[in-house]
Amino acid sequence: MYIWYDEDKPRDECGVFGVFGHPYAAQLTYLGLYALQHRGQESAGIAVSDGIDFLSHHGMGLVVNVFENGDIEKLKGHIAIGHNRYSTAGSSSLENAQPIIRWHKSEPIALAHNGNLVNAPRIRDDLEDIGSIFTSSSDTEVIIHLIAKSPQPTIEERVMDTLSEVRGAYSLLIMNKNTLIAIRDAFGIRPLWLGILDDAYVLASETCAFDVIEAKPIREIEPGEMVIINQKGLRSVRLSSIFHPKAFCIFEFIYLARVDSMVFGELVNRPRREFGRHLAREHPADADIVISVPDSANIAAKGYSEESGIPFDFGLNRNQYVGRTFICPSQMMREMMAKVKLNPIRDVLEGKRVVIVDDSIMRGTNCRRLVKMLKLGGAQEVHFRVSSPPNRFPCFYGIDTPTRHELIASTHTVEDIRKHIRADSLGYLSIEGMLSCVKNPQNFCTACFDGEYPVEFSGQNTQQLSIEFTRGRDRR
Ligand code: SF4
Repeated sequence: MYIWYDEDKPRDECGVFGVFGHPYAAQLTYLGLYALQHRGQESAGIAVSDGIDFLSHHGMGLVVNVFENGDIEKLKGHIAIGHNRYSTAGSSSLENAQPIIRWHKSEPIALAHNGNLVNAPRIRDDLEDIGSIFTSSSDTEVIIHLIAKSPQPTIEERVMDTLSEVRGAYSLLIMNKNTLIAIRDAFGIRPLWLGILDDAYVLASETCAFDVIEAKPIREIEPGEMVIINQKGLRSVRLSSIFHPKAFCIFEFIYLARVDSMVFGELVNRPRREFGRHLAREHPADADIVISVPDSANIAAKGYSEESGIPFDFGLNRNQYVGRTFICPSQMMREMMAKVKLNPIRDVLEGKRVVIVDDSIMRGTNCRRLVKMLKLGGAQEVHFRVSSPPNRFPCFYGIDTPTRHELIASTHTVEDIRKHIRADSLGYLSIEGMLSCVKNPQNFCTACFDGEYPVEFSGQNTQQLSIEFTRGRDRR
């Protein structure tokens, strides 16, 4: 079985959602996960507690397929956490579905994680050396093992012990029978929001998940903050007094987060549109229409059109039933998937000089197909514009980008890439231009563009890390 994905997009992002203090916690979590479906399509799961019983349901696929008639109704309780996981070809298995649930001294713990731990392979080796047996190949499982191993008496203290050992990106939800804990790593790499619905607290990767249940956003969980919610109320604890510069993932604004969501203090719509506007100033084109690669580049393309004065139109029809990934029964069908997902609208393109705006280029393979598709669809010229800088470095913080040698911009000049994709011109947004579009640019990670990785890897360079990370993934 092959899982098709757009080879010019990053993969492996996750969505988390949690509720404390609502009689329909599982139902709300189901709706929240539905709203966060774009962050993960491989598997979904919900764990729930009523203070006595601890139940869960997991499955492979979309939320709508994982939870069938009656599944949600069986999940009774007032505390719940849920998780959507993204698909990668090598790790599509039920044992990697989250929330991860383990029993320790007759007490259950459930955990949902968005991000990636850069030292998980080493911790796992150490734990296996002293007898731990892992039942999944996910980096997240080391957290559960470390929590169980901690000698501290309370769940809160055991989690704090654990977090002193792990490094990388983590927005985490952890629950036992009576407590819900939310944590964001010290760099704040992945988003995590706190909201309220009636007397219940809710937590989500993005605020679009609050909108669907009519919850009100209160604030983001701060980088390096742990929030503990139980029957006594909500408490906030700082995980460390050590100052860390913030390193919010700027790719959330470029591609990952929904345009109607708030992350990192603002609505995604504004910076995404600004990326397009700035791109038009940096790379103008003599053209008749601006089109987007739907849907993630729609807003950037609109920004390009507004700034350049070139009219925006829909030149590609997107099949709404194809998500960011798609299970293909054969390699041959995989080749055809780009055409199943997008089809040119000949009326719009015929004889036109077309600016097409996309949000990123990873390998370049899909862009090449796109340019060919537009020309076959009647476009006279195709000017490719990218609303992010060239992706030259892999991400190690929860986005599954190709390895460095697979990233076309790491080994080719912009002109080489233009020739490869056969566009009439090609322009990327500059790093400076991108950062000028966000508030507090010093707070953002830009490592996949400039190689400046915010989380230190002591004694390692990124090449070594890449090897370690890849080994960790091979074991999935
Ligand atoms: S390396 Fe890129 S994708 Fe990864 S966290 Fe940093 S900005 Fe985001």
